[in-house]
Amino acid sequence: MAARTLFDKVWSEHEVVPETADTPAVLYIDLHLIHEVTSPQAFSLLRSRGLPVRRPDRTLATMDHSTPTRTEQVFGNIPIAVDAAAKQVRQLETNAADFGVELFAMRDARRGIVHVISPELGTTLPGMTIVCGDSHTSTHGAFGALAFGIGSTEVGHVFATQCLLQRKPKTLAVNVEGALRPGVTAKDLILHIIGKIGVSGGTGHVIEYRGSTIRALSMDERMTICNMSIEAGARAGMIAPDEVTLAYLRDKPRAPTGSAWDAAAARWRTLASDPGARFDASVDIDATTLEPMITYGTNPGMVVPVAATIPARPATGAGQTVFDKALSYMGFACGESLIGKRVDVVFIGSCTNGRLADLEAAASILKGRKIAKGVKLLIVPGSQQVKRDAESRGLAQIFKDAGADWRESGCSMCLGMNGDTVTSGQYCISTSNRNFEGRQGVGARTLLVSPLTAAASAVQGSIADPREYL
Ligand code: SF4
Repeated sequence: MAARTLFDKVWSEHEVVPETADTPAVLYIDLHLIHEVTSPQAFSLLRSRGLPVRRPDRTLATMDHSTPTRTEQVFGNIPIAVDAAAKQVRQLETNAADFGVELFAMRDARRGIVHVISPELGTTLPGMTIVCGDSHTSTHGAFGALAFGIGSTEVGHVFATQCLLQRKPKTLAVNVEGALRPGVTAKDLILHIIGKIGVSGGTGHVIEYRGSTIRALSMDERMTICNMSIEAGARAGMIAPDEVTLAYLRDKPRAPTGSAWDAAAARWRTLASDPGARFDASVDIDATTLEPMITYGTNPGMVVPVAATIPARPATGAGQTVFDKALSYMGFACGESLIGKRVDVVFIGSCTNGRLADLEAAASILKGRKIAKGVKLLIVPGSQQVKRDAESRGLAQIFKDAGADWRESGCSMCLGMNGDTVTSGQYCISTSNRNFEGRQGVGARTLLVSPLTAAASAVQGSIADPREYL
């Protein structure tokens, strides 16, 4: 058999009907993750046609996007402040009960952001196909799964059939070699990659992240990398499962056990791309030269090293309009230094950087320090499990002592739909994944960074180079 890529192996194992020139392939889906925002319409579709959920045992629901993060609204008697959010939460409770889908409801100890809870439960496993009505489903590719976001209509298709119609994407190898320097994180690496290949650089492709740098990353770091594949336009991002992957999954509550574990682990070890496997395209990255990164515009590809200046306007082309509009929105000018610029809000959390390793990184800078006067620092764990772990390890106390607001888990300020928003005109240093206009609130100005840069900026009260705080 010809040498095959990781993607080719997972795709072919799930292809029910191959694609033709006229028709897409029918792909079997192993795991369907759902949440309160993109599922109501799909459940309505089932009701209108009198259909059940085909595989409720392969469907898992949580609440994250519109749930409040204030403890009194989650565990107290204070109602959810945002009416639309309260309605979505109630609707998912009804839908999950009616269709027999397991739900981690508001007060469930296992609740959290959909892309955080599935890996920590061990329901995300190597070699799976995983979908969810959320773009950042690519996160699960860190385990060697083929995982991608789908629209509300497709959520209905998967409910009804456990299959999806898909055109087979091409493959893009991103080869990363060398050790990251102190202060440079997985978030900086993926921001650099997006800056290098552009926000359309992965369009039509599944990226496989490869090389010594990737193999040296923890699973939390690998999830940060795969999470933002979509921001480079890719259908998905994948990393071959290895001993780091197996060690992470070994004791997860729903991972296979006993002989089933042995059989699964043996299969997972065969998933890596074969030597000589052909990719449709490839990019090489030297990790040893990278620096902490920060976005300055309104898409994640508008990114520079934190110590650099805002670049010059593109010499020609349609990019000029995008560039001018972005800088006008951000209130920035070409050639300005980002270091020292005003910070109003700092957000540490999201499915990109809301895991324990991210909170540990932030705590390494915040320990024994106070945040600057006038800065609001919001730290939101990616799941209730991350919250418990952070509290038992003393991280939450470090955050509170520094002056941060420590919350219940959820998507929070990653998007402005749950009551956690940035006021118009304010600058928010954020560990999330999207800096689009209005993403964190109408008129909000978002700069994407790592947890280290976010914490250092909260302490300094302006954009800071984290290497000065290590
Ligand atoms: S944290 Fe942000 S990107 Fe992640 S699932 Fe929630 S809304 Fe989507």
